[in-house]
Amino acid sequence: MVIDAVEEKKEIISRYRRLLRKAKPTLKGNDAKLIKRAFTIAMEAHKDMRRKSGEPYIFHPLSVAEICVEEIGLGTTSIIAALLHDVVEDTDIQLIDLERIFGKKIAKIIDGLTKIRGVFEYGTSAQAENFRKMLFTLSEDVRVILIKLADRLHNMRTLDSMPRNKQLRVSSETIYLYAPLAHRLGLNAIKTELEDLYLRFTDYPVFREIADKIDETRASRNKFIKQFVQPIKEELDKLNVEYEIKSRPKSIFSIYSKMRKQNIPFDEVYDLFAVRIIVDTPLEHEKSYCWQVYSIVTDYYTPNPDRLRDWISTPKGNGYESLHTTVMAKNGQWVEVQIRTRRMDEIAEKGYAAHWKYKDTVSSHESNLEKWLVKVRELLEKQDLTALEFVDDFRGNLFNEEVFVFTPRGELKTLPNGATALDFAFEIHTDIGAKCIGAKVNQKLVPINHVLKNGDQIEILTSSKQKANEDWLRFVISPKAKSKIKELLKEDKKNVVEEGKEILLRKLKQLKIETTSQMYEQMRAFFNVNSQFELHYRIGKGTITVNDLKRFKEFKPSSPLKTRPHESVDVKTIEQEINKVKGRYEDILLIGEDMDVVEYKLAKCCTPIPGDDVFGFVTVNEGIKIHRTTCPNATELLANHGNRVIKAKWTSQHEVAFLTGLKVIGTDRVGLINDVSKVISEELKVNMSSLAFKTDHGIFSGEIMLYVNDTRHLEMLINKLEKVEGVVKVTRFDSRSNNT
Ligand code: MN
Repeated sequence: MVIDAVEEKKEIISRYRRLLRKAKPTLKGNDAKLIKRAFTIAMEAHKDMRRKSGEPYIFHPLSVAEICVEEIGLGTTSIIAALLHDVVEDTDIQLIDLERIFGKKIAKIIDGLTKIRGVFEYGTSAQAENFRKMLFTLSEDVRVILIKLADRLHNMRTLDSMPRNKQLRVSSETIYLYAPLAHRLGLNAIKTELEDLYLRFTDYPVFREIADKIDETRASRNKFIKQFVQPIKEELDKLNVEYEIKSRPKSIFSIYSKMRKQNIPFDEVYDLFAVRIIVDTPLEHEKSYCWQVYSIVTDYYTPNPDRLRDWISTPKGNGYESLHTTVMAKNGQWVEVQIRTRRMDEIAEKGYAAHWKYKDTVSSHESNLEKWLVKVRELLEKQDLTALEFVDDFRGNLFNEEVFVFTPRGELKTLPNGATALDFAFEIHTDIGAKCIGAKVNQKLVPINHVLKNGDQIEILTSSKQKANEDWLRFVISPKAKSKIKELLKEDKKNVVEEGKEILLRKLKQLKIETTSQMYEQMRAFFNVNSQFELHYRIGKGTITVNDLKRFKEFKPSSPLKTRPHESVDVKTIEQEINKVKGRYEDILLIGEDMDVVEYKLAKCCTPIPGDDVFGFVTVNEGIKIHRTTCPNATELLANHGNRVIKAKWTSQHEVAFLTGLKVIGTDRVGLINDVSKVISEELKVNMSSLAFKTDHGIFSGEIMLYVNDTRHLEMLINKLEKVEGVVKVTRFDSRSNNT
């Protein structure tokens, strides 16, 4: 690539100016100076680096900063952190240097954006560890996540130049963690774009198909909407209020999800678009105006009573406010109408940062997000979780919408969507949870695993005889209830173990078995348990009975019992595996960076067949497993264990080609070369890499380098060539030892 240094420099400066221009309305004091300082440091630090696309690296932090300003609405602190976000991770500059120049706050944010260095134990997940690290900083400063989302958005927008396996890993991480996070923080526009990009990079044909269909149906859709809103417009005009009517089709990803979930074709997705009516009203009239608009809409069209959603009276957990109704159009089609004010619309699109803007005016809605952050903090404080468990809990609980329920005294409690009566009991108090035997929901008796709905009023029933059991873990979804139950079970287990220990000692005495460490070892092997603790537990629980102990006594090991070695797999052994089977080519799946033929198993969850878009996953005990990129488990595997993912590609056997050489000798005649190359390229569909012919006194000799699948294929080719008129002999020569 030819790089014009002067042009490039100009482009960098012009992008930097564009950033400043966009940030200008928010700049105060010496903000501009600080931003310039950050830009200069970043540019200098990244000056020799390029992105995979070949662009200067600094384009990336500049774009991230621009997204922060323009699409999230952040200010100077975030701009500086965004400009410097990759500096500590990728260059020699240290955090302490940045702290000296820009202060503690900015250094903290950058630290949260810097990946943990070093090697992770096999079985742990670097991605999960890094995600947790980032969230630790989030609990102090939300901007870390917002900048991270901007970073991720820009990386997704420029994912084209990345290799396929990296595209899959980054996309999966995005759909698994970042898109839900954007949603949870109310950044709807970014969430939607991330989801669409995910689909684009994981299943392009489907993405294209839906995008094309949206385009094709645009004209007729617009015509329909125009007719639909006409009477509403006429009424709104009489109201003497500023308003705007928008209509956008649903995102490609949400149409795709709908098609998949309901197993329907594109044409049957009935709510392809929604009509949005945005009114400009002063804060104190917001609610009444929205309902007035609702009244106008339903004067003309019959609403579906099941589909009225009032998120103005109770905003969603992520701050979303709007009034939704679905009405029947004159042609018998259901149309969703969203009614909201300008302020609500801005919050719906830009989320958290837009909240700040209105912080002084509306406090109750902001507090929903604050509450969420408190829960994130609670989860982060749980030390005993591994990073993977943490990510799992985080996804399971903190991405969910909430249900609002009431205590018998009318006190409002917020629980994750899907929470049960048992969750509620633990929310009230640990002791109540531990003794919970059921509940009365709206005066009706229900079991402890009853799922709560918005507005339910719950009275918990307890009994002093109740005890927590393993099943309870499946009945609850809130992190609080889960961890409390685990504690109770641990406590319980300890008691059982103590009891088991006593029983064992007593029985050993009765059976006159000597208590030596060797005996314990034999006993563990006999009952196939890993530890003394487990042994005592099983005895305490009664799964190992007195009779079992007698059987052990009768069992005389003839030779010392061997304990089974731990099963383990080292990542390096994969490489050995690859080398071991290298050279076999009857398989038709190519794996790894070098696209080798390696042993593998097809995953049972998605049963890939040749031609599917696939990837390899290095499992702990079963070697390499092949999954389809659309496998239901793919997202989780790629997002949490990207380091164990290897490239894999189906190649039909005919495409597995080996370069080989053929020498053709014959008597020269007009058109011979033409006939020979015709046999090779047309009849056998073989690729020639080079062809050289010479004639000497009527004798023709030629050397052809070509790609064949295997020896059988080569033999067939030789036979055919020998049948060409004038050819006397065809022989094979080694491609490397001969001329090139
Ligand atoms: Mn970055």
